[in-house]
Amino acid sequence: MATLIVGGGIIGLSTAYYLSETQDVVVVDTAPELFRCASGRSGGYMSRLWYGPEVAPLGKLSFRLHAEAAAAHDGAAAWGYRRTTAWSIKSAGRRPETEYAEERLPKDGAMPPWVFGDPAESYVLDGEDDCAQVNPRLLCEHLYRTCVARGVRIIHPCVVESVAGTKAVRSATLRHLVTGAAETVSIGAVVFATGAWTADAFKRALPAASYTPPVSALAGFALVLSSPRVPYVGTDAPVDPDAHPSTDVAYYLDAPAPSAEPQASAIDVTQALFVRPAAGESWSPEIFLRANGEIFYAGLNEASYEPPVIARPAPAYTKDPLASSRQSATFASALAAMTEAAIIAPGRNKFDAVLESARNLLGPDVSVLRRSVCVRPVTPSGDPIIGLVPPERAAGLANVYVCAGHGPWGISLSLGTGRVMADIVTGQPVSADVSALAP
Ligand SMILES: Cc1cc2nc3c(=O)[nH]c(=O)nc-3n(C[C@H](O)[C@H](O)[C@H](O)COP(=O)(O)OP(=O)(O)OC[C@H]3O[C@@H](n4cnc5c(N)ncnc54)[C@H](O)[C@@H]3O)c2cc1C
Repeated sequence: MATLIVGGGIIGLSTAYYLSETQDVVVVDTAPELFRCASGRSGGYMSRLWYGPEVAPLGKLSFRLHAEAAAAHDGAAAWGYRRTTAWSIKSAGRRPETEYAEERLPKDGAMPPWVFGDPAESYVLDGEDDCAQVNPRLLCEHLYRTCVARGVRIIHPCVVESVAGTKAVRSATLRHLVTGAAETVSIGAVVFATGAWTADAFKRALPAASYTPPVSALAGFALVLSSPRVPYVGTDAPVDPDAHPSTDVAYYLDAPAPSAEPQASAIDVTQALFVRPAAGESWSPEIFLRANGEIFYAGLNEASYEPPVIARPAPAYTKDPLASSRQSATFASALAAMTEAAIIAPGRNKFDAVLESARNLLGPDVSVLRRSVCVRPVTPSGDPIIGLVPPERAAGLANVYVCAGHGPWGISLSLGTGRVMADIVTGQPVSADVSALAP
């Protein structure tokens, strides 16, 4: 019998990737366009070691699986997989424009030669053996294509209205969000991998359950930049960050064009910079130089932004202009309650702050290629939740699983999580000890 995976972000797709080696899999996602969530918009830095004891075995497994997948499927070309050097950089704070002259950049290896930080207080944190980078959206696209080729049914925009059975999960009722049609599928297990929306998706499908996955949202604002001091071989044209009306929500919804083409390469060993703020600066930028020379610049977060009730762009940006009027009455009010626009429009000053910081650290001549906001799924413990929900807390049903709450590490832990989740669902020996992460 098929396993139903609720959520088609990197955690849901990694689980589908490994489960589909041996099983039928159905993935359901509410979004009309996949990967406009954290999985497609985040940094893609990956560490072998930076985890607490509960997550450490999973971190090591995942780091190895990323390297193996990249070697087997030319991940260097397909999703920009590269080993990385991680740096701790001390911000030098605001400085006069004349100080942004290239000859002022250190050329002695004391700091990456494209950052105007403080070389005397900057140092390498971790080397290529222990950290790597990917373009997360391209990795998601690889997982998606592999799953589809193996016969995984990926249905979106669609929502799971209910999960039913006696003693164990047997069926799920789906609602297609464009047509409003209902469909019942036979399943033997269900995995909730719905990121920051996991509590909502779980309660919607299993309203009688006494368990609610304790996963909430932490929004992050990011810019993707190019710099005259770094070779950039991507295809995105710069945009003018000052020339847009503040009400233009589309401004914040830039997404790179999906591509199955091999990625042009500018950089062999990428760099990841973790910045310590100078006096007067209130947040710590995280800056990742990717294989094609684009620079991901983030670190400014906002806990008070709630994700939309159901993950989807504002109706004006769906491909089908009639979609909102065709949605079932059950979900119309939820969809109307909050759209992506509601978290994006108030965030304009956040993007301005990120750009100001980028101009300070990388020089006033950086160009903006893309902007995005997305929500990390976070838990009170800081660790992800991976495993079986005890039947007595899942409305008496066996085979209900949760796999969510990866916080700042969902890309790094993705393949390991998919591997162990597939092991758990199929009853195989588990590839890494995740017993401390059980719901
Ligand atoms: C700014 C930023 C930078 C980051 N940088 C890094 C990094 O460098 N390295 C790293 O390892 N991690 C990083 N992360 C964290 C990482 O992006 C996340 O941990 C990871 O993407 C979470 O994946 P997910 O699949 O659990 O959730 P998501 O990516 O949010 O996917 C959830 C999916 O569920 C769908 N969904 C929602 N509700 C429903 C429903 N009711 N039914 C069906 N589907 C539903 C959504 O549409 C979405 O497709 C970063 C995050 C942010 C915000």
